[in-house]
Order: sequence, then C-alpha cells, then structure tokens
Amino acid sequence: MRSGKLAYFLFLMFLSEVVSAGTKPIDGLPDYNGTYFGTPSTGSRYSSSSPIFTTLWRDNYYRKTAGCAGEGCGKHPGVDISVPSGTPVRASLAGKVVRMVACHDTWGGLIVIEANNPYLSGEKIYISYAHLSDTDVLEKDNVTEGQIIGKTGGASTDNCHGTSTGAHLHFQVDKPHSGLYPWYPTGGVESKDSNFEVVAKTYNPLPFIQGHGYHWTFGETGFKELWGASNIKSYGVDLSLLWIDGESTSTSIYRSGLHSPSCAYSDGYPCSRQVAIEASIYKRWVLSLDFKCYNNPVTVYFRNSEGAIGGLAFNYDSARLYYIPMSKHSNWKGLITDLWMYPSNGCTASSGTKEFLIPQMYFLR
Ligand SMILES: [Zn+2]
Repeated sequence: MRSGKLAYFLFLMFLSEVVSAGTKPIDGLPDYNGTYFGTPSTGSRYSSSSPIFTTLWRDNYYRKTAGCAGEGCGKHPGVDISVPSGTPVRASLAGKVVRMVACHDTWGGLIVIEANNPYLSGEKIYISYAHLSDTDVLEKDNVTEGQIIGKTGGASTDNCHGTSTGAHLHFQVDKPHSGLYPWYPTGGVESKDSNFEVVAKTYNPLPFIQGHGYHWTFGETGFKELWGASNIKSYGVDLSLLWIDGESTSTSIYRSGLHSPSCAYSDGYPCSRQVAIEASIYKRWVLSLDFKCYNNPVTVYFRNSEGAIGGLAFNYDSARLYYIPMSKHSNWKGLITDLWMYPSNGCTASSGTKEFLIPQMYFLR
C-alpha cells in the first residue's frame, strides 16, 4: 500500500442484517457484495455466470471512458442484472402496471409498476423492468409482490432486445417526476452524474432489491472495495483491523470506487467518491470504533447532493459501536455523497498516539 496525500485502502464489503423490502426480481440473485462484475475496458458487462449485477446505479458502461468505474462514475439510472434470456422476472413490490410496451425500440419489452415506497410512506415509486423478451401483464393490472410478470431478454438473438446487446434485466426505480417512466439521461450513461440528475430522478435500486443498504467491513485483503483516505500519518493492521493514525492533521476517509485493474486505482484517477446513500432511507451511520484517545468528541462530516456540508460531533471512549443519528442534522437529505471524520479534533491521547480502529461501518434505516 502506498502512502502520500491519498492512500487507498481496500475494503471487503458484506451484508448486515436483512430487512425485507421486497422480492428479488430474479430468483437466486445474490446481494451486491462490492465486486464489480463487468469486464474492464471492453464494455462487455454481461457474464455467462449468472445472475449477477453488472452495471451499477450511476455507473457507466465503458469504464475507461469516464476514467473510473462504480457508482457516481456515470449516469446509468438503474442496475443491470446479467441473467440468461427467458428467466422469469418477479414483481419486486406489489403495485399497478402503469406502462407496458411489448416491444419498445430502446427498452425491448418494458413493464413499469407503480408501487408504494417501502422507505418513505406516502411516496409512489415507479419500478421498471426492461429488455424483457416476454411480458405477462397489461397496463392497469394489479400485481402482487413476487408475481411473475415476464421473462428476461436483451440478447442480440432475442426477438425484441431494444438497444441491448447482451442478456440482462435492466431494473430501475424512479422517483415521482413529470416525465415518462423510466427516466433515462439524454446524453447517455458515460458522463459523470455531476449535476445529480440521476439522483434527482431515481433511487439506487439496491436497497429495494436487498432490503438494506451497504455494510462495509474494512480489511487489508479482499480487494473488493476501494476506499481512500487523506492526511493520514501511518496505518497498520492489528488483529485484522485496520488502524489509521491521523495525528498530523485532519484525517478523512471516503469511498472512492471499486477496485479493478483498470479502475482509477492504477490510473491515478479518483474513482467514484460517491457514498450513494439516500438520506431519506438511512437515518443512522453506525461506526464500530476503537479510539486510543479519549475525553473529546470526534466529528463526523458529510456532504449532500446539494453540496451542503453537515457535521455532527459525538463522544466516544473506546471500543464501542456508535449509532450516529445523522437524520437529526438539517443537511442530512438527498443523496449523501461524502462522509469523513476528523478524529484528531481535540483528541487527547494517553500515549501520544491518536490511532483509531474501524472494524466496520454501515448505515441503518
Ligand atoms: Zn441498464
């Protein structure tokens, strides 16, 4: 691992407790675990092994084009799930079919179902299932959760694959908006979502598929998830836990993308710096920390999609699980795009070092 202004750490991501929020649209679909499954540089993001996630939310197709890969690197408004054509598709939530096109030029077979947002009472969401080779429901039909609504397609050999060139299901969750569902960026998915238009129009589908968000566990090995840290003095691994010494100045850690040979890690580009969590869904940030300093609060900062920065100080002693109630802060809204912490702010160390261990962090609803 190299040092410098930016040092990168690889973190293994795995899952927290499962909170049911719907049925997976594809039977046997594993939870997203932090691995980017696409083939680097080729644009080939469909694998013969299935079903898996290939293109993520706010990802791009041609990873090198945008210089990075992973959430925040493009404008893909849904997730692509690589799955052989003809696989049954289930309605992930109950609702009403508001759009059905048996063979759309772009989308292939398309079904859009209006459902209640399980995370935000009173809000309707619009879930799109695209590149279907077969559609089993009609507009105005009411469907139950888990009901089979069609079959996947998308392969060039499928009758009605739209613009897709490989077998997959495009699964997208739109927020209510005035346009046609599903929303799609006019400029394509390759450019970064720097104006947050994807964020404005859609939700990250993963919480709707998995019933929870992300749960990271930091590890020295695994090569699953790329995070960055700045202004660190030293680091090490002790009892399988990463520690970072941020004594010299303010230390920050942030998710910076997904590791792969062609990702920003080796290109010198920053990868995605998007945390990609919806403030409306996740109310608490859980940090399992072990500080070797005491008597002063540490401050956790975040930035939202409007660019506003919030900060929340909390007290700590040592080796505790901290449930940080981020929702109490007025800026905890929209998409949270960065998270960082300043453990050295006023930290009083007993032994002259101010290191801290971060076994895991995740978000809770
Ligand atoms: Zn797609």
